[in-house]
Amino acid sequence: MFIYFDLHRVVLRRETSYREQCPRCKSSKSIIYTVTAFCQRVYFIPVFPTEKIVRARCRKCGLKMKLGKEPLNIQAEIKIIASEAKYPYWMYTGLFLIGLLLLIITVMVFINS
Ligand SMILES: [Zn+2]
Repeated sequence: MFIYFDLHRVVLRRETSYREQCPRCKSSKSIIYTVTAFCQRVYFIPVFPTEKIVRARCRKCGLKMKLGKEPLNIQAEIKIIASEAKYPYWMYTGLFLIGLLLLIITVMVFINS
């Protein structure tokens, strides 16, 4: 039997920094943080989220900062934004369905015994 797995990319949050300046063009209020998450899916049903990635990009000069190689002040802001971005509940739909199936099986065994 063939089981279809895939990773689905979801943008959790997009936020503009009002504190930090771009290291290249020195403009303020130009850094955009994009928080993306990957969700493991089975037959297109989301089962659980796997990882959260925050990317920083300057809106004015187009500078894309490499993951883990951002300036320290931006790395600190990335940690805060990553901790504030929560996974949506629908990403756990598969786990909920598995739990519901186990509950139904348990009740059926209990009724038949
Ligand atoms: Zn810039």
